[in-house]
Amino acid sequence: MTARLHVDLAAFDHNLAVLQERVTPAELMLVVKDDAYGHGVARVIPPALAQGVAWIGAFDVPTARAVREVAGSATRIFVWMLPTKGEVAEAIALDLDLGVGDADLLEDVASVARSAAVVARVHLKIDTGLHRNGIRPEAWEAVVQRARRLEAERAIDVVGVWSHIAEASDDDDDDARALFETACAQARAAGLTPSLRHLAASSAASTRGEFRYDLVRVGAFAYGVAPAGGPTAGELGLRPVGRLTASVTEVHDVAVRIDVGAAHGLPSTLGGIVTVSTPGGRRRVIRIDPLHSVVAAWAGATVGDDVVVYGDHVIGEPTATELAEAIGTIGEEIVTRLSPRVARTDAGGA
Ligand SMILES: *Cc1c(COP(=O)(O)O)cnc(C)c1O
Repeated sequence: MTARLHVDLAAFDHNLAVLQERVTPAELMLVVKDDAYGHGVARVIPPALAQGVAWIGAFDVPTARAVREVAGSATRIFVWMLPTKGEVAEAIALDLDLGVGDADLLEDVASVARSAAVVARVHLKIDTGLHRNGIRPEAWEAVVQRARRLEAERAIDVVGVWSHIAEASDDDDDDARALFETACAQARAAGLTPSLRHLAASSAASTRGEFRYDLVRVGAFAYGVAPAGGPTAGELGLRPVGRLTASVTEVHDVAVRIDVGAAHGLPSTLGGIVTVSTPGGRRRVIRIDPLHSVVAAWAGATVGDDVVVYGDHVIGEPTATELAEAIGTIGEEIVTRLSPRVARTDAGGA
């Protein structure tokens, strides 16, 4: 298999610097779910730490464990998917920051912390309208009161209040922010003193100052792909970090085969719609088969030629965001779907 994802860590460093400068004085949490949006957790953590990133958003405990191994004990690691009490116990053992979006989970966290004789760091999540998880506004008052009592017992420390917003419409986000403000005020009134309020992901963090609060959780833009809504990565001066190439394996009269296909994570709906970058210029993708794709030929096409499926618009290549938008989805859907069987390599600053 010749398909490769070339991970350009120089572009990654650049993106982090641009984003940190944009959001300061808020701190940047780098979100690394889905194996760092397909780029590889172990690969992106060391440069992020070197760049001064102090917070990693790990989504779940298995990802957090991988981050802890690479990052050491000083880095703050936030998880917000804690489906079992066993995972709560492991999260506490790994000294993670816990996103808590329901009252039962809060009790589990407190009970695990008591038995471990530690104080668990909790970020309470208010549901501001996405209805994924999060404490509903009508239940919030009771939960913050309960959290205050658990603090008094030294089982937990409520260090944060947070939510996740759609970032698809400014009006909806404004409504969500109003609920968030109310929730923060209620938490303070109950005697909690959360010093970390966080609401924004890539889009709101980059474009809407009043959404930044103390911490922003950024995934897509750090990797140079556009999230839903908002400006494009290119408009903000961000560069794609991942570049997917595959070699030509067969040459026919009007078409060639390249060895990356649907089984490697390319949506088959790209067939007939998008173009890729070949030594002969942009050529249409005719079809995406399970194990290979068929691309319109160019003069002189040869087995072993490299084709760029997505890469950097600055050098004329299609981007993951461009492919995604051609089929009505978002860039991160393209990069996170890439199979682990596609080797990741350092791009060597190319
Ligand atoms: C994925 C995710 C993010 C990052 O979103 P981007 O748009 O990729 O920056 C932030 N917060 C939560 C809770 C997420 O699940």
